[in-house]
Order: sequence, then C-alpha cells, then structure tokens
Amino acid sequence: MELMNTNSPEQARKRIPSQIAIDGPAASGKSTIGERLAKQLGYLYFDTGIMYRAVTLAALRRLGGVGDETAVTDLANKVVIDVLPPTKADGREADVFLDGEDITWDIRTPEVDANVSPVSAYPGVRKAMTAQQRRIGLAGKVVMVGRDIGTVVMPDAELKLYIDASVEERARRRYLECVERGEQVSYPAILSSMQRRDQIDSTRAVAPLKPAEDAVIIQTDNLNEDEVFDRVMALIDPPGGPD
Ligand code: C5P
Repeated sequence: MELMNTNSPEQARKRIPSQIAIDGPAASGKSTIGERLAKQLGYLYFDTGIMYRAVTLAALRRLGGVGDETAVTDLANKVVIDVLPPTKADGREADVFLDGEDITWDIRTPEVDANVSPVSAYPGVRKAMTAQQRRIGLAGKVVMVGRDIGTVVMPDAELKLYIDASVEERARRRYLECVERGEQVSYPAILSSMQRRDQIDSTRAVAPLKPAEDAVIIQTDNLNEDEVFDRVMALIDPPGGPD
C-alpha cells in the first residue's frame, strides 16, 4: 500500500496564510478581490497603489510636475500618508489623507493616472514606500495589493497571487467604472493611458511588475468577480474542508 503524501503544496495551502500578496496590472480586479478576501478572513486590507498615487498628487500640487527626481524623492520621504477605514459611503475603499487633507478621490484623476508610473519608477521613492509597506506586512494578517508585493515587499508571503487580464478588458472595466461615477471619459484614451502605464511598470529597473516565481496566476478575462473569488478561496480552504 502506498502512503499518501500529506505534505503536498495543496495540503500546505490549507492553513490560512498570514501574509497574502496580490499583484497584477491596473484594473485587473486585484483590489476588489483583495478587499473581499480581507473582509472574509478578518485581515487588514492594504492597497499600496494609494501611496504612490498620494506622492504623485503631492508632486503635481507642490512641485508643479513629477520630472525632478530629487525633489519628488525628497517629498516621498517627507509626506505623511494616512489610510484609515472609510467614513463616507461614497464608494471609497478607505479614507486617504495627505498631510491631514482628505485626498481620497483626488488620487483617482486621469492626471494622477498619467503621472504615477514615472514617480513609482524612481528608486528613492520606492525605497521610502517599501519600508513603510514592509512594516505593515510584518504584523501579519494582511492582504497587501500592488505590483511588487510578492517579489519585493513580502517575498516570504505564504500565498502569492497574480491577477491578470488583457489590456483591452482592463480598459473596458475602468471605462465602465468611470461612466458609473458620472465622469466624462473616452475608451481609447483610457486604453492608451493603461498601455503606457503597463509599459513603464513592467520595464522599470527597480521592482518591475511581474509574477513572483511561486505566485498563482489567475487570468480573469472570462471570469466574473465571484468566480475569481471562489478560485482564491479554493487555494485557502479547498472543497473538502481544512485539515
Ligand atoms: O494599483 P494602482 O493602479 O492604484 O497603482 C498605481 C500605480 O502605482 C501603478 O501603475 C504603479 O506605477 C504604482 N505601484 C507600484 N508598486 C506598487 C503599487 C503601485 O509601482 N506596489
């Protein structure tokens, strides 16, 4: 009789991981899934894109642009970014403050979208942001979402997910979100902004967007939110129940 190997990767995944890293390109659905997963597990949800967006907004407002790497890096080390539980029911995932000012929706404009990738390619900016993110990650019971969480910020996370979709599908999702919020937007403009962002994020020298070697990749073009969520939950608590 052959003994079953009880230490297979599937078995190991049945224990609820304390650190869950979710990466993927813009509008792949990673934030929605991350937020839902955190709620389900009673974990902290932490969207690291917020931090890069906040630094970008600060640079646009205070420096008039994002081209001066030294000045932007200096700003990244000085600004105080707070992400707190939402106090308004206007669709926000969190209240975001920059030096005490509520900037929750100001970081979601096309201008920030267009400038955030150059800012997040600056090594000094990444260093400042990564240090803060690691501190939060070390406390555990966290679902952290971004571009480099599984590869750089929390390389020891027990579960790493890479949520992907074609750029056309992601631009379509973003377009529908903007229309729903009553914004005047064009699909071609969103598509080209997203292609540009993908290009910069995945080719930058420091912490480029890519799946960690041990990440589970989920392609979501033909999946709805519930289907993606079910796949993720199956990795944590597979049908048949935990040990
Ligand atoms: O996830 P979101 O689209 O809000 O991220 C905005 C930008 O922040 C990304 O396009 C990327 O340039 C940058 N980012 C990053 N590393 C992370 C999270 C976001 O470089 N961990």
